This record gives sequence, structure tokens and C-alpha cells, in this order.
Amino acid sequence: MASGTSSVSVAVFSTKEYDERYLSEANREHGHDLRFFEAGLNSRTAPLAEGCEVVCAFVNDDIGPDTVNQLADHGVQLIALRSAGFNHVDLQTAALRGIVVVRVPNYSPHAVAEHCIGLILSLNRKIYRAYNRVRESNFSLVGLLGFDLHGKTVGVIGTGTIGARFAEIISGFGTTVIAVDPYPNPRVLELGVTYHSIDEVLARSDIVSLHCPLTPETHHLINADRLSGMKDGVMVINTSRGALIDTAAVIDALKTGKVGYLGLDVYEEEAGLFFEDLSDEVLQDDVFSRLLTFPNVLVTGHQAFFTAEALSDIAETTMMSISEFAAGEEMTYALDLSS
Ligand code: NAD
Repeated sequence: MASGTSSVSVAVFSTKEYDERYLSEANREHGHDLRFFEAGLNSRTAPLAEGCEVVCAFVNDDIGPDTVNQLADHGVQLIALRSAGFNHVDLQTAALRGIVVVRVPNYSPHAVAEHCIGLILSLNRKIYRAYNRVRESNFSLVGLLGFDLHGKTVGVIGTGTIGARFAEIISGFGTTVIAVDPYPNPRVLELGVTYHSIDEVLARSDIVSLHCPLTPETHHLINADRLSGMKDGVMVINTSRGALIDTAAVIDALKTGKVGYLGLDVYEEEAGLFFEDLSDEVLQDDVFSRLLTFPNVLVTGHQAFFTAEALSDIAETTMMSISEFAAGEEMTYALDLSS
């Protein structure tokens, strides 16, 4: 750690206009030297961090072993993630090279949970289709039939910060909420939510919402086998990480009607796609293109976190972590690299 130093140089990767605005605002109290790069962080762009003790990275940056080694060779000592998820970082190599990794675990849980509700209501009441119809003076209701959320069963997979907030909000619609989590959350138990095996939750739910992290264990958690055990016409919502769902299997399930509604804010091959304006280009990803052809699929481009409050929380926590590092203090949000 940079003991005794109060100001450090930070290479900020994957910078958009809004990142620069919120990070610069939060940095006013800290006075670090922020160097903004539009490029994503990967093994080719890592040399841009030359002269910086810290890199600040986002969700689709490639922070595998090659990148981590390059960063270490260029003197980087801290990777500050502007995200809660950290599945894109090679923690083992970071530990070997003495690099600390911090994340932002607790920024506005409301942002993502509320976006889930948006996806559920839009899919159910077909608001995205109604919007287009009305603009074409088509006021027919045929094909727009929805269902009451009241009385339905909602399965929450992962009841940490975001899943718990989602469970609270969706309970307010008069749903029965059931959950899966190896560590039941007392706040969620207080709501009257019951915990069960994943197979039971999937079999009983009208709506399934994913809120667990992506790990080797949860990769393709929703696969052909699990889909076959779900209710016919189930609604599946994923705002967590794309690779929790086997996309090819979910496409098959959409074709048979097993999955009746699919709401995605994340996609397993979203890197290089999401966060960019590709409207003048031909999409090369045939699986993603197929997903977009279904009338009952709604995809947003990893925007669930994107509220003013969340960006402010992310920027403030990131700058606080960088200042802890600069002062040689214990890092509040350091990831445990020992496992
Ligand atoms: P969290 O760590 O607070 O909660 C995750 C929960 O999942 C924990 O309670 C954990 O015990 C549980 N879990 C772990 N393995 C499980 C399994 N196999 N089955 C069921 N539960 C399991 O995380 P969080 O802040 O609530 O975030 C959840 C996820 O949301 C993150 O991992 C991140 O990938 C994603 N996320 C997405 C966005 C977005 O913009 N779309 C924004 C923030 C976070």
C-alpha cells in the first residue's frame, strides 16, 4: 500500500461521460489525479496505466491473468472496481502479484430491484408493445392481455442486498415470495418468505428472478434441465449476470412456450456489445439476434444500476477506497484474495 501518500494517480478505464462527471465530483474531497480513458481495460490497454498506482475498472473489462500481470509490471497496486460483481477479475493472480482488489458492494440496492419490477410490469402488461402500437394509431388490445401479479408466486434466487429489496417490493403486490440462498437473510425471513431447494422454488414459481453472483457453481444455473422443471409459461428475469442462464437453452424454452416471458438486463456475451452505440453496425452475435426476435423477450443493456443515486454511491465509495489505499489504511471493501 502507498503508506503516507495522500494523493495517488488513478487510470480510470471504460469511462463514459457520466463516469467522469460523478467520479470528478466525488474526487473534489479527495484530490487524486484521475486519468480517464474511454478504452476498456484488457491486456492490450493495461500499459495506459503506466505511472498510476491505481486502476479503476468496470463490469465488462477483461481483468484476467494477462491483464493483472501487465498491471503489476506497470506498478499498479490497487484495482478499484466500480461494480458489486467481481467475476471478471483473476483474484488469484492479483494475490500472487500483491495487488489489492476493492469493489462497491452496497450501492443503491433500490436501483436494480426497481428495474426488475420495471421489466416484470413491462413484460406482463406488454407496455413496450403498447407504446409502439399507440404511436401507429393502433389501439387494439388483442395480444396485450396480462395477468394480475396479486396471488402469484415469485421465486427469488439469491436474497442478498438486491434480492432482499426485490423481495420486499414484489411482496407489496400481494405475491407469495419463496427463495433460495445458502445463507437465509433474516430481513427476508421477517417478510414471511420461506426458503426451499432450487428445484422446488423453480417448480412452484410463476416468476423467477435471479440475484445470486456468477461463480463456477452458478454458471448456467438456469439450463435445459432446470427449465424443464419450471411451470409452463414462466417469467424469467435476470438482472444479475448473463452467464447464470444458458442462452441457447432458454431460446429453446421460448420456442416451446415453456418460458412465456424473458426479461434480461445482462447477457452472457454482453462484453463488446452493451454500453456502446452499435446502431450503425450489423450485429454479429446470432444468438443475441435470435433473442431479439421474440415478442415476449425484453432486453435492456445492463442499465439496472443506472440511477443518479447509484452512480453517486459508486463514485463516493470508489474514491473513499482509493483514499484508504493512499493513506495506507485498512481497506473496507477489499476482496478476500486468500480463497
Ligand atoms: P449480495 O452478495 O448482497 O447477494 C448475493 C446473494 O446470493 C447472497 O445472499 C449469497 O448467499 C447468494 N448466493 C450465492 N450463491 C447462491 C446460489 N448458488 N443460489 C442462491 N443464492 C446464492 O449481492 P447483491 O449486491 O445483492 O448483487 C447480486 C448480483 O447482482 C451481483 O452478483 C451482481 O452480479 C448483480 N448486479 C447487477 C447489476 C446490474 O446493473 N444489472 C448491478 C449490481 C449488481
